[in-house]
Amino acid sequence: MTQTSLEILQHTFGYDAFRGRQGDIVDAVVEGQNALVVMPTGGGKSLCFQIPALERQGMGVVVSPLIALMQDQVSALSALGVNAAFLNSSLDMYQLNEIEELIRAGEIHILYVAPERLVQPRTIELLKAVQISVFAIDEAHCVAQWGHDFRADYLRLNVLAQVFPHVPRVALTATADSRTQEEIVNRLQLDQNAQFICGFDRPNIEYRIRLKANPRKQLLHFLSTEQSGSAGIVYCLSRRKVDDVAIWLKGEGFDALPYHAGMPARDRQQNQARFLREEGVVMVATIAFGMGIDKPNVRFVAHLDMPKSIEAYYQETGRAGRDGDASTALMFYGMEDVVKLTQMLAKSEGNEQHKMHERQRLNAVLGLCEMTACRRQALLRYFGEVLETGCGNCDNCINPPATWDATEAVRKALSCVYRTGQRFGAAHVIDVLRGSENEKIRQFGHNSLSTYGLGKDLSVDVWRSVFRQLMVLGHLDIDVGGFGSLLLTEKCRSILRGEESIQLSEYIKTKPERKSSKKFVADVAMEDQALWNAMRRCRKELADEDNVPPYVVFSDATLKEMIVKRPMNDSEFLCVSGVGDKKLEKYGEIFLELIREYEYQDS
Ligand code: ADP
Ligand code: ZN
Repeated sequence: MTQTSLEILQHTFGYDAFRGRQGDIVDAVVEGQNALVVMPTGGGKSLCFQIPALERQGMGVVVSPLIALMQDQVSALSALGVNAAFLNSSLDMYQLNEIEELIRAGEIHILYVAPERLVQPRTIELLKAVQISVFAIDEAHCVAQWGHDFRADYLRLNVLAQVFPHVPRVALTATADSRTQEEIVNRLQLDQNAQFICGFDRPNIEYRIRLKANPRKQLLHFLSTEQSGSAGIVYCLSRRKVDDVAIWLKGEGFDALPYHAGMPARDRQQNQARFLREEGVVMVATIAFGMGIDKPNVRFVAHLDMPKSIEAYYQETGRAGRDGDASTALMFYGMEDVVKLTQMLAKSEGNEQHKMHERQRLNAVLGLCEMTACRRQALLRYFGEVLETGCGNCDNCINPPATWDATEAVRKALSCVYRTGQRFGAAHVIDVLRGSENEKIRQFGHNSLSTYGLGKDLSVDVWRSVFRQLMVLGHLDIDVGGFGSLLLTEKCRSILRGEESIQLSEYIKTKPERKSSKKFVADVAMEDQALWNAMRRCRKELADEDNVPPYVVFSDATLKEMIVKRPMNDSEFLCVSGVGDKKLEKYGEIFLELIREYEYQDS
């Protein structure tokens, strides 16, 4: 008797229910339809082909360009009791023959193959000789010729439709705009009627954006109160900063490692391997780090510098929380970032139109930073998706900022920019407004301007916040030729004439981060920290015995559910999400013992 999809989901994978559209996708593929699946990272794409592969007769074949990850994917399936294997260039002749034998004997249920290997005649002949249940084409956007991940081998995958017309093909990707989707459908000859486009939202990521006050102190506070022992990524703009921050964090007691393109390849690979295999490594990196990183339990992504576009920001923060568990994306930004990025842009190659486009993208990031409404709504809107209400899981939703009538202040600010000749940056204009006495002011005679000292009533920080918001709103521009001088725009006119009033968000002093009451660290209550740490140690030991990454044993979410549910026997243990038959058999006793031990300690 064959098992139904739901039985496989529950017994093999240990989950109660399908998530989102997984159920519909599985049904379609099990029925033999082709499908295109666009689902965000962490959405649960794997089950969409793994379950049909197990439910239908024959062997499922997964095409993936990420050779480095195949071993881990196969290990994860083996840990669930599924016979899986891979074919790629890392195998020697002997291993290759052995796997081919197993395939011919019908012993393999899921096979991972690199695209260049799949299209070889030898592989095609092998697959023709056995029954295939489904072809899954992972990272399917690689067929798009104009995309940044284009792989020539993916173009040759049209062979699947020709040689195996009766085997369903399911193409999956996290990133495909409509043009790429069309290209996937055409090249892989998928039917038009089974498309599952699931949107971009990553609801488990909390977006938090803070002004830079003392960024190192702010980061340290975040790490020590909310993320101690968690794995995460800290992005910096320059290689030098990466090295400095990594050394400093190490000194503060964190397991921090650097990663940037200026390091010897061997060191880079070593650091990456440690990040993937070990618990709690903090990777300090430039944007060179991240492509093809598939670590599911990255708990935070922090930006110490402002990213240069929303696309980059969303892709980088998207590396957090692939396992669906609560994660944080924290960014620190300041006016100096905007000036630096604007200047880098001005010096970069490319024509004027390209530069203008890039400046608009940069402005969109500043807009995201300075906005007072839901950040997720804004992010999704940027990608053309509508979220009807506030998300409840970003800083602005959790702690809505107040606004004030800033018409007077804005008028003073703009006229001071005008009177100083639009030749100075915000720092000097603020000095003039506040009536400071310094050499530069005397030198330019700015102490005799009518706006000199007119803004004494507001602090420097409040003035900075006014200037940043005016940039976002488009009243001020940065002169890329000058040294970051401020320029007035057309938009200023009606305000200067007194025809328009303006509301700005209140400057919020960077206060200690939320949760400093220390009730939770890594989303686990303080009183459960000892059990949490013991479980993670145990998981690491078991993983090392089998030479697999820790998450192959259990995900963070599964461990956290054990802490909350405190299962006392096998049947209760099975009710924990992520525990299936095989894992109960293999690890049940060990973890139940651990939980019992701490249960008695508590009482
Ligand atoms: P993707 O490939 O789309 O990035 P994965 O397939 O790796 O995502 O799944 C992300 C995480 O979600 C994994 O830890 C997986 O075990 C978990 N997951 C997937 N589907 C379910 C489900 N129906 N119930 C609970 N957890 C799930
Ligand atoms: Zn929100």
